[in-house]
Formats: sequence, C-alpha cells, structure tokens
Amino acid sequence: MKYRHLLIDLDRTLWDFERNSLQTMREMFDKYELAKLCHTDFQTFLDTYHVINYGLWQAYNNGTLTKEYLYVARFSLTLDHFGLSDTYALGKQLGDYYVFESPKKTALLPGAEVLLPYLKEKGYTLSIVSNGFKEVQFEKMRTSGIDGYFDHVFLSEDIGYQKPDRRFFDWVLESLNAEPRQCLMIGDDITVDIAGARDSGIDQIFCNFAGAKPDFEPTHTVFELKSIMEIL
Ligand SMILES: [Mg+2]
Repeated sequence: MKYRHLLIDLDRTLWDFERNSLQTMREMFDKYELAKLCHTDFQTFLDTYHVINYGLWQAYNNGTLTKEYLYVARFSLTLDHFGLSDTYALGKQLGDYYVFESPKKTALLPGAEVLLPYLKEKGYTLSIVSNGFKEVQFEKMRTSGIDGYFDHVFLSEDIGYQKPDRRFFDWVLESLNAEPRQCLMIGDDITVDIAGARDSGIDQIFCNFAGAKPDFEPTHTVFELKSIMEIL
C-alpha cells in the first residue's frame, strides 16, 4: 500500500454542497415569503445571493471579515439589493436559518457511500481536512451518516490556518505523525486542496466534478468518486 493516510475534503467532494444548499435556500425562500417581500423569483434571488456570498467569502478567506459578519451580511446585503431597508434583523434570521438547516441535509456526491467503506476496508486511515465552519461540519458528517469512517477531523478553524496554507498541511502531518509521501489528498478544489497538498509534497487526487482546466497536472484526476477505487 503506497499511502497510509487519506486526507479528504468534505464540501463538494463528499457532501453535496450545491444540492443541499439549494434545497435549504428553496425552503427558506418559501418560508420567509421572499418572493413577495423582494418582488423577485427564486432564481434571481439565488443568483444575487451567490454573487454577494462569493465576494464575502473572498474577504473572509483573506481575513478581512469575521464569519459572524459573513453569516448575516450575505443575506442582509441580498435583501438590500432588492430594495429592502433595515435588513439586519431579517438578514440575521435568514442567516441563522441557513446555518441551522443546511447541515441537516444529507445528499452526498454519487459514489461516496460505496467509496468510504471500500477505503476503510482497505485499511487506510481517513481524515477530513476542511476549511468549513466547525459548528456545521460535524453535523453534516453525522446526519449524512459518514462520520464513522473518519479517524480524524482537521478543521481550519481549530488549526488557525486554512488550506492551501502550508502550515495547515504541516499541522495535519505532524498530528498524524506522517511523512508527506505516506499521505494522499482527495479534493474538488484545484487551488485550495490540490495545489495546497502539492506544495506540501503530498500526492493528490483531483475530483474534477466541475470540468475545470487546471494549469498543472495533479497526481491523479477523477471525474467521479467511484473512479478512486481504481487508484487505491
Ligand atoms: Mg471542497
């Protein structure tokens, strides 16, 4: 066995973030009657939210705003966009709803349910390595029934550095008491997961589910999770 430790990203690699998020947003849009309030349709509301959320995440990743601010602002700024005023209170309600409800959603990417028991059976040590928020990542793993496969969960919030920062991977290697060559990173994000691991001397499986055209060659590339079973 070439590798001992598999470092696996959670969101969009195992847990179907898009599907689960979409379902939560749909429920929220109906529950809070946002069509009436914002005079818009679901898709327009969602598209606007995505643009605002993306910008805020960039700022969060650069360390220029807190997650508490991000939680509320992604909704209050969306409401602002549709002409509502005094949007903090409703923004907070929507933010709380989203953070409370979305991790209860259980959709996994196709093949995850077959892959994880296979890898476990093969004797690999499985670790989650995620930049996602602590209060939701554990719940997502629990409700989707995959928490039992993992020996370790490494979250950037605990470590104090985010992937692709080398210090994140150094921390993981040290905690596992492992050499880079004994580890393999599996993830969907070419920069955060794959380049990050590469720069720490760790081989990678790039889960290219979005059809990206990377400017370097990862160790392995798969287009669906079940192809990982042909590699490991
Ligand atoms: Mg991901």
